[in-house]
Amino acid sequence: MLIRNVSILKSGQMLHGRDILIIDRRIAKIGKDLRDEVGDDVIDGRGKLAIPGLINGHTHLAMTLLRGYADDMELMPWLREKIWPLEARLTAEDIRWGVKLGCLELIRFGITCYSDMYYFPDETAQATREMGLRAIISGVVFDMRPELLLEVEPFIRRWKGDELITPAVGPHAAYTCSEETLQKAKEIADRHDAMIHIHLSETREEVDGFLLSKGKSPVEYLDSLGMVNERLAAVHCVWLSEEDCYLLAERKANVVNCTVSNLKLASGIAPLNTLMKAGVNVCLGTDGASSNNNLSLFEEMKVTAIVQKNAYHTPAAFSADQIWQIGTKNAYKAFGMNMGLNVGAQADLALIDLRKPWFCPETNILSHLVYSMNGGVDTTIVNGKVLMREGVIPGEEEILEKAQERFLRLTS
Ligand SMILES: [Zn+2]
Repeated sequence: MLIRNVSILKSGQMLHGRDILIIDRRIAKIGKDLRDEVGDDVIDGRGKLAIPGLINGHTHLAMTLLRGYADDMELMPWLREKIWPLEARLTAEDIRWGVKLGCLELIRFGITCYSDMYYFPDETAQATREMGLRAIISGVVFDMRPELLLEVEPFIRRWKGDELITPAVGPHAAYTCSEETLQKAKEIADRHDAMIHIHLSETREEVDGFLLSKGKSPVEYLDSLGMVNERLAAVHCVWLSEEDCYLLAERKANVVNCTVSNLKLASGIAPLNTLMKAGVNVCLGTDGASSNNNLSLFEEMKVTAIVQKNAYHTPAAFSADQIWQIGTKNAYKAFGMNMGLNVGAQADLALIDLRKPWFCPETNILSHLVYSMNGGVDTTIVNGKVLMREGVIPGEEEILEKAQERFLRLTS
């Protein structure tokens, strides 16, 4: 596959008229006047910008089915009264169409990979593979449903080595899993060299509860169980002490911040500058569409930048360039992905139509991507395969219809 005459970004500068050659699911060459000796698929890149694929570092993709179902509530009543009762009725078929609906949205936002934590991980993985996206999928584990812990290792065995799906372990949170459950989850992750994906220090109540009951913060508690390491994706991390930040850095753990979800649920603002100064690898996720309510990493980048500027009382903090690094390179590092517009990298990328008012004038394209972008992803490619071409995703109509049907069944 050859993408011809496209613009690319190099060190923040826009270079026009470049060709990108994709061979065998990898970026083979980037240059001028390239030829494709093996394939015959040519994409006209004129007027478009190629960006490396984005990773949504934290989702519950099937929950896209619950978008708008319950808003504007406190976290615990929201979970207890609305989300958990509906989740108890979910079937594999609901998951399938909820995930496909989420994948449509990810593709439309130029997201080529996502990290998920939910029930029915096999169905999530299967639906994701059918959609052609890449994902790190964690089978969720918590004490209310003890069978989930027994199901997670067979799930990992089934999907280990898959080209698009990386299986992982998802203990829901330190407050929903007993110490024994967390230890077992850790043992499974260790046996398979898998990631652990957990909600951590999301609310003040969670942290206060741990300080009272264990005399430790949730981060210190997880560390005492040996769970804080480079295979940890700790989600939220809103309420951290400075000691927590340094501990996460020392253990080389990854933090996935979900600013929009944290703001919508009024959980607070994560100390990202402190984390990054300590040396923690921070990346971004949207959380489920039921608490965001979309899956856009562009929106996440903008909101994170402007919220952090306010938290640290300076507009100089979290520049467009810095937030772009957080949204791209930091995420690639966290999830061990060979991504980026580089020769040899996975051919996971998106083309953005620059002929939109929010990209004009051509001043600073990174600034436009972070602060003014309001759509325009035109083509999305994962693993060398085109998933959306000029705004068209095959099968989209059917997915929208089925998702609506599943939602009506769930709430009837
Ligand atoms: Zn979440």
